[in-house]
Amino acid sequence: MSSSKTGRKKDATIMTHAGMDPQKHHGALNVPPYRMSTVAFSSLEEFMNNPSGTTAYGRTSTPSMKALEDAITALENAHGSVIAPSGLSAIVTAITAFTGAGDHVLITDNCYGPSRRAAENIFKRFGLDVEYYSPMMGAEIETLFRTNTKVLFMESPGSLTFEVQDIGAMTAATKKVGIKTILDNSWATPLYLKPLDLGIDVAMMSGTKYVSGHSDALIGTLAANAASYDAVRNQAIYSGICAGSEEIYLTLRGLRTMGVRMAHHSKAALDIAHWLAGHPAVKRVLHPALPSCPGHENWKKYFKGASGTFSLVLHEGERSKIAKMLDGMELFRMGFSWGGFESLIVYEEPASARTASPWTETGGLIRLHIGLEDIDDLKADIEAGFTRLS
Ligand SMILES: *Cc1c(COP(=O)(O)O)cnc(C)c1O
Repeated sequence: MSSSKTGRKKDATIMTHAGMDPQKHHGALNVPPYRMSTVAFSSLEEFMNNPSGTTAYGRTSTPSMKALEDAITALENAHGSVIAPSGLSAIVTAITAFTGAGDHVLITDNCYGPSRRAAENIFKRFGLDVEYYSPMMGAEIETLFRTNTKVLFMESPGSLTFEVQDIGAMTAATKKVGIKTILDNSWATPLYLKPLDLGIDVAMMSGTKYVSGHSDALIGTLAANAASYDAVRNQAIYSGICAGSEEIYLTLRGLRTMGVRMAHHSKAALDIAHWLAGHPAVKRVLHPALPSCPGHENWKKYFKGASGTFSLVLHEGERSKIAKMLDGMELFRMGFSWGGFESLIVYEEPASARTASPWTETGGLIRLHIGLEDIDDLKADIEAGFTRLS
C-alpha cells in the first residue's frame, strides 16, 4: 500500500484502502473477523517449515491481525506494527520490551492514570527503577539520564492536563545515548502527529479511542521503527498479547471513517474551546491549539491538527457545586474515555497523581470530549451547566 506504483499515498487514501485485499477474502471488501486458534497445515513439510510471521497459530498471526497491522504501519510510516488487546496492554508491552531488572525508566508525570499504575504495581515489582519527569522539561530531560536509562516514555499532550512536550528536543537527547523513546499518541492519532517521523522509536495508540471511534471496542496499537520492531513483536508473542477478531474488525471498520470524524471533532472542539476561553465561568482552557495550554508552542511546531478532547479549569472549585453542573448534563455523558461519536464530560483532581510537576490550580478540572452532535446544542448544554454551577 505505502509502496505502490504511484508512490506513498496520502492519509485519507491509506485509511480507506490499507489492509484491504478482496481477492484473498472471496471478494469481500472488509476483511472478515477470522475466528481461529488452530491453523490446519496441509503437509508435514509445511508444518515443519512454517516461516515465522505467517499464520501458524491464532495467537501470533491471523489475516485479521495482519490487515490492521498493515493499515497502522502504513499510516504511522513504521517498519511494522503489533496489535494489542487494549491501549494499556500496548503500553506495558512496549515498555517491558526494552527493559529488565535494574534498568531506569523515565515516565512523564502527566501520563494516563493506568500507565502510572502499571509502573507502580508491575514495573517496580520486576525491579525497574521508575522515575517521573515534568512534562515541560524539553531538552533538560538529559539531566535525568543515567547509564542504565533504557526508556523515555512520553504522552503528548497529557491525558488530563494537556501539556504538550517538546518531542523533537527530547528525542534528539535520547539519540545521543541510545535510549528508546515510546510515545502515547492516542490523542492526536497519526493524522495529526506522526511520531516515527520525529525520531520516536515506538508510537502507541489506544485504538479504543479515535480509531475504532464508536465506544464499542478495546484495542491498542504499537508502530515501531526497524530497530525496535523485533523487540516489540517478540515481547507481544512471549507474553501472549493478541487482540480479538471482533475488536480488530470493528477497529478496521472505524479506521475507514476516522478522517471525516476527526475533521469534525477537531473543528467542533476548537470552536467550543474558543467560546469557553471567553466565558466568565472559565478560568483557563487547556486545549493544545490555544496559547493558554502549556506547550502550545510545541503543538504548533510538531502537530498538524488537534483532536476533539481538551480540558478547562473552572473558577469554581467546590465539588458539591460542580456536581450540580455535571449531574444535570443532557448531552454530555459522564464517563471515562473519548474518541467515540458521543460527547463526554469528566471531573478530575489531578494533584494527587503527580510527583514531579505539582498541579496548583484550585478550580475544578473538567475534561470534555466533543462528539459529533450539533455544536450549538453542545454549547447550550454546557451553558445550562454553568448556570447550575453559580
Ligand atoms: C484510554 C487511554 C489509554 C488506554 O487505552 P485502553 O484501550 O483503554 O486500554 C492509554 N493512553 C491514553 C492517553 C488513553 O486515553
